[in-house]
This record gives sequence, C-alpha cells and structure tokens, in this order.
Amino acid sequence: MKKTIALLLALILVLSLTACGPKKDAASSLNTTTPGVLTMATNAAFPPYEYMENGKIVGIDAEIAGAIAEKLGLELQIDDMEFDSITTAVQGGKADIGLAGMTVTEERKEAVDFTVSYATGVQVVIVTEDSAITSVDDLFAEGANHVIGVQRNTTGDLYTTWDLEDEGLATINRYSKGVDAVQALVTGKVDCVVIDNEPAKAFVASIGGLKILETEYVLEDYAAAMSKDKPELYEAVNKALQELIDDGTVQKIVDKYIPAE
Ligand code: GLN
Repeated sequence: MKKTIALLLALILVLSLTACGPKKDAASSLNTTTPGVLTMATNAAFPPYEYMENGKIVGIDAEIAGAIAEKLGLELQIDDMEFDSITTAVQGGKADIGLAGMTVTEERKEAVDFTVSYATGVQVVIVTEDSAITSVDDLFAEGANHVIGVQRNTTGDLYTTWDLEDEGLATINRYSKGVDAVQALVTGKVDCVVIDNEPAKAFVASIGGLKILETEYVLEDYAAAMSKDKPELYEAVNKALQELIDDGTVQKIVDKYIPAE
C-alpha cells in the first residue's frame, strides 16, 4: 500500500513537472539578455510610439513589445537610450529588441535583422506658419541653401544629408531629440525640420506657430531590430508579432494612440 502511494506521488510529481515544464523551457530557451525577460531598447522621445508619461515609458511600441513578451511568457523591460545607441545595444546583446519607430533601411540591415513591419511612417517637413518654404521641392530647388534640423542618425538625417547636404543644397543641424530640432525651428536656428509624421503632429500640436507641409518627403516601414546572432529568439519574436498583426491586436494598439482622421 505504502509503495503504491509512493509510486502515485512520484507519478504526480513527474506529471506536474512536465505539465509546467514546456512553457518555462520555451521562455528560457529563447536566450534573452536576461533570463525570463524581454529587454527592449528605445528612445522615449518619439510620441506616440514611445514617450514618458508619469515617469513611465508608454506608447505604441511599448504596448506591442508588452504583447509580444506576454505571448512568449517573458516579462518586458524597457531601456531608454539615444536613438543612435539602439542598434548597437541590440547588436551587442545588451537588448533583445529595438523598437523605436525604426525605419527599415538597407544600411541598418547590415547590422541587425528586422522583423516583419508593423507600421508605416512618412518623413515630413515642419516649418513655421509664415515660412517661405512651401513644399519639399523648395528644398531641392537650384541654389537652395536651407538650414535643416533633424534628429541625429534618423532617416530624416540620413536622407537630407545624402539628398541635400552632400549636394551643397543645405546645412544639416543634428539634435539628439526630435523635439530639440523643433525648438530650434521655433527660435529661428533652423529653417525647417525633417522628421516622422506622427511625432511631427504631436510636436506641432503642443508647440504652436508651426505647420507640416502637405508634400511628403519619404514613405517608410517601421520594424523591430534584433540581433543576427540569436535566430531562435528572432523567429519567436517575429512569429509572435505576425500573430499580433493577423489577429488585429497591433491595429487596436495603433488606433488607441493615433485616432483615425
Ligand atoms: N523612423 C526614423 C528612423 O528610423 C526615426 C525613428 C526615431 O527617431 N525614433 O530613423
């Protein structure tokens, strides 16, 4: 009798161990920077994708990362840093995922792998309400010589550098935050700012005296940046993100922060 009970107990123990085993194994086999944790690198100065609210990082990317982490049985931790440092953090294994309204570019693809795209962005031009610049074409006009404010190493910086500065058509002033570039526009240090449309809308709404030109500069895809050295983690995150896109979760998160026009 005693033996049977002991056997039964052993059996229950084995069964309960295997029952909770797979989930734990799945999460720990993911080889994240910190076991059980999905570490996201971002620059929390890019509303509505990521920004500070009551001392917490919130926004579209933060919520998408939260949903991915939940699917993978991981806890989410968000590290705030310069936009410039995100790909390096991901590449060096300090962060598992870079989510920062980051545009997929061929140059960045050499350093990191991108997941499926979860949103699109547009580079737009912000000017003062009385600006002589009325369209993107004005920036490309023969003899143009504008001072353009951008956030350092964003696509707004890269494209204006290649298209305009390298052609002798503009001088680029680079700031570590988009909002600093916009402040430079307010104080007349730059003639316009080239930046992503959603933060542009947020800055223009909160600062005043500014407008966004109707002509758009470049259309781009946003995706999460991940290390090339962790294929299992990449596959798991990419699959989770694709599922969140397919079941409408991503759209719901986007709609919460970007009301339909
Ligand atoms: N989409 C732009 C880029 O990838 C800007 C992103 C950002 O400033 N967070 O360069």
